Amino acid sequence: MDRFTYQYPVRQHFGKGCAESAIKEEMNRIAGNNVLLAYGGGSLKRTGMYDKIVGWLHECGKTVTDFGGIMPNPTYAKVQEGAKMVREQGIDFILAVGGGSVIDCCKIVSAQAKLDEDIWEMQYAKHQYPTEFVPMGAVVTASGTGAEQNNGAVITHEEKKLKQPLLGAYHTFAVLDSDLTRTLPMKQVISGAFDTLSHCMETYMGRPQATNLSDEINESVMRSVIKNLRALIANPDDDLARGELMWASAMAENGLLKLGKQTDFQCHMLEHAVGAYTDCNHGQGLAVIHPILYRHLLSEGKEKLARMAQEVWKVKGDTTEQTASLGVEALAGFIREIGLPTRWSEMGITDETVLRAAADTCFLMPGCCKQFTRDELYEVLREGM
Ligand code: NAP
Ligand code: FE
Repeated sequence: MDRFTYQYPVRQHFGKGCAESAIKEEMNRIAGNNVLLAYGGGSLKRTGMYDKIVGWLHECGKTVTDFGGIMPNPTYAKVQEGAKMVREQGIDFILAVGGGSVIDCCKIVSAQAKLDEDIWEMQYAKHQYPTEFVPMGAVVTASGTGAEQNNGAVITHEEKKLKQPLLGAYHTFAVLDSDLTRTLPMKQVISGAFDTLSHCMETYMGRPQATNLSDEINESVMRSVIKNLRALIANPDDDLARGELMWASAMAENGLLKLGKQTDFQCHMLEHAVGAYTDCNHGQGLAVIHPILYRHLLSEGKEKLARMAQEVWKVKGDTTEQTASLGVEALAGFIREIGLPTRWSEMGITDETVLRAAADTCFLMPGCCKQFTRDELYEVLREGM
């Protein structure tokens, strides 16, 4: 295991039905009364949660400023709109209510509002990172990304045709009430849970490859995601499975599985690059990429893929190579079983030039056990046609 220092700043409120008491407790704790309520494109109002939350904020003596319309795959322009609002309205606290898109957007709004310079240029041109933030908290309505747990955000810069990570603020708290996800369409539940599985796998496959305690906990989280997603698909009223998936999503991104490891999120970076050109659904794009990219790792990554095959997918062949391959095919089978796409065409993506452009602009990772070239990444994407 590599050396590490671990400090975790996010207070967690977990449990079915905990939202009201958790939000009120946190609102009574914050300094200042001017709250920015950030949310997505309409589901919060449709489900009635918007009125409830505004009511709870008013009960706590807060003034509410609305920042709605945060789109899936949040844009840099939306970040700038939010930052301007925070400055002009003198916002004391940002409450992000939604899925990964709303939560990510707010992390960068929180940092940009305190900066004069452009945060994208600051991070990518100068390699400098923000140190001051408008405080914020997250109420999760779509689990899977674990975005409420970390300070990384994925933002689409439309002019630059890039969807890439930026570092922003940590939320001071996260509210994980599985009841809030009951209105989420099953298709999004599934793609969110696959995102969690992807975070686990991309961490598990990181360096060093030798299995450590983080990996053993990770194996357990992966088994839990697979089991509980199957249970929830079979019975959407299974509140235990819904809550377990929510906590697994948090566990995959709260840093614990990454301790002593250097993660390699190459599948994620490739999916983001496709997303910059197509605005595709994150979990669905990952489902197309994962088995294909892992088939390209069967030689260099065979030991770890074979361990995952046995510990997570419960399959074993006669040799390490065979076991690794059986594991990757078990993953591909699971993707088909839960109804996620295995081809770009199933997501409406049929233009190979888009995939070439994505490979050419993809953020290159150092490689968990193999450094991919742009041509190899294009080959991975092309095999998904
Ligand atoms: P999302 O983009 O936040 O939301 C997807 C859809 O679900 C939206 O259309 C939203 O509708 C709807 N929705 C959310 N909650 C709902 C509810 N309770 N009932 C009904 N509909 C609901 O999805 P996500 O998968 O959570 O986030 C994806 C983004 O997170 C991507 O940009 C991805 O790259 C990023 N990500 C970040 C991290 C990280 O660690 N920071 C990790 C993985 C992925 P409304 O807009 O109408 O609310
Ligand atoms: Fe993700």
